[in-house]
Amino acid sequence: MRRTAGLCNLPASFTFGVWPRQWFNAQPGKREKKAVFQFDNTYARLPEKFFTRVKPARVPKPELIGWNLELAQQLGAQPGSLPDEELAEVFTGQKLLPGSDPIALAYAGHQFGQFVHQLGDGRALLLGEVVTPSGRRHDLQLKGSGKTVYSRNGDGKAPLGPVLREYIVSEAMHRLGLPTTRSLAAATTGEPVYRERALPGAILTRVAASHIRVGTFEYFAVRGDLENIKRLLQYSIQRHYPEIQNDSEAWLLFFQKVGEAQVELVTGWMALGFIHGVMNTDNMSIAGETIDFGPCAFMDHFRFDKVFSSIDQFGRYSYSNQPQITLWNLSRLGDCLLLLTDQTSRETAKLLNDELDSLSALFERRLTAKMLTKLGITKDVEPGDRALLFKWLRYMESEQLDYTLSFRNLANFVESDGDLNIFPRTSAFQEFYPLWQKRLGSQHLGAETIRGAMNGVNPVFIPRNHKIEQVIEAGLQGDFSLFHEMNEVLKKPYEEQEEFSGYKSAPQPEQVVRATFCGT
Ligand code: AMP
Ligand code: MG
Repeated sequence: MRRTAGLCNLPASFTFGVWPRQWFNAQPGKREKKAVFQFDNTYARLPEKFFTRVKPARVPKPELIGWNLELAQQLGAQPGSLPDEELAEVFTGQKLLPGSDPIALAYAGHQFGQFVHQLGDGRALLLGEVVTPSGRRHDLQLKGSGKTVYSRNGDGKAPLGPVLREYIVSEAMHRLGLPTTRSLAAATTGEPVYRERALPGAILTRVAASHIRVGTFEYFAVRGDLENIKRLLQYSIQRHYPEIQNDSEAWLLFFQKVGEAQVELVTGWMALGFIHGVMNTDNMSIAGETIDFGPCAFMDHFRFDKVFSSIDQFGRYSYSNQPQITLWNLSRLGDCLLLLTDQTSRETAKLLNDELDSLSALFERRLTAKMLTKLGITKDVEPGDRALLFKWLRYMESEQLDYTLSFRNLANFVESDGDLNIFPRTSAFQEFYPLWQKRLGSQHLGAETIRGAMNGVNPVFIPRNHKIEQVIEAGLQGDFSLFHEMNEVLKKPYEEQEEFSGYKSAPQPEQVVRATFCGT
């Protein structure tokens, strides 16, 4: 950790040791007996510029599609504390749980590189913060719950498809082992939402570590509101990185922490072949969770420059551009934090730039390590390993092989006794295969150990787009059995589940989903 006392010249009032106590006064000892969740809404106690109070819109016919009992219990709900007949009302915002204080959060953001000074929760609202029995704090949010002051020209609503999609993909992301917002419930509203055509309206209840984004910092930065950048920084540190709160250079450490969390997250995405699709700064959580499952997708066949989002014409958010975009977004956070320092000091900017360089190097190291583990290379990286990895990736790309299945199947070839016909025997494969075998052998680990390591990081099941489309199609007909089934399968993504092999297969040519769309 760098220590450069005296260089960053924070304003005198900017003392990290003193925290407004009223922000975090959860008292787990005083849990109300009958409350479903213990709410303690710290964000709603920040100054009013941070949010606007809202009421969820009335909807004609709330009906529950499904909810996540396991997650509800982790959040502190007791069995039976949420009666079945109330679930639809609660998860569409028709009935507010005691302690809930709905607000829409203000934020700004760079969207596809263009700065938009006013975004905010335009179709979402924060019901409140739930403190779990073990003291963890989570935002509970409704998405698709109607207009707010931040809705601009939007209707504040969500069609059924994107709600089912976010439910499935976010829960799968969690089971695959990556930090992510989660889904507590999905419900239909009984009213149409008008897009290209009329679609059933729906609401997702989402759980997040918080909804503070890089764009939240940008919101105050563009307004020159230093006081509130400071508050937001203090709040964010206390909520997510309390271990640095007393450090005299907490602003820089915060930048480092957010950066490291993002590196861990995005390298994790890339190892799983995930393309977020809309890595705008308003979709980058400072808690390091995956947030916003709009035009995202797990790749079927591998391509370095794969893009799914229908609006990403220039490949800004393509698979292999994700590292650069992570750093670009972090630079925007750095711009905001710089405002709190002596901006005339070149040393201060250098500190941030040095940190970005370190994060860039960290990204490279973590991605390489994760990708090599997928190949069964689990010990220290050796010269030649990256070249070996790229031989494999280029082979997959040129043969249009399925990313997930190819990695998974490769574990059957650790001892060269697998059915090699699975992989086209091109010259690229003939070149890769013996080198890979030799490298595995050099680890002296035993085939079982290597296979175990590979199968632990190479899933069998991912939420494939063509399967999600089938779930949505059935859902539009009022049949949610596939939705429930797909969620069940994806609870164990690393386990072979023969009875569900249909969820494992790559799409047939006519099933390939080439573009995904924002949930708007
Ligand atoms: P997203 O692309 O989902 O990250 O959303 C970007 C911004 O557009 C956010 O401020 C959203 O709240 C807003 N937004 C998206 N869809 C709608 C909608 N249907 N109504 C109102 N605001 C929306
Ligand atoms: Mg968003």
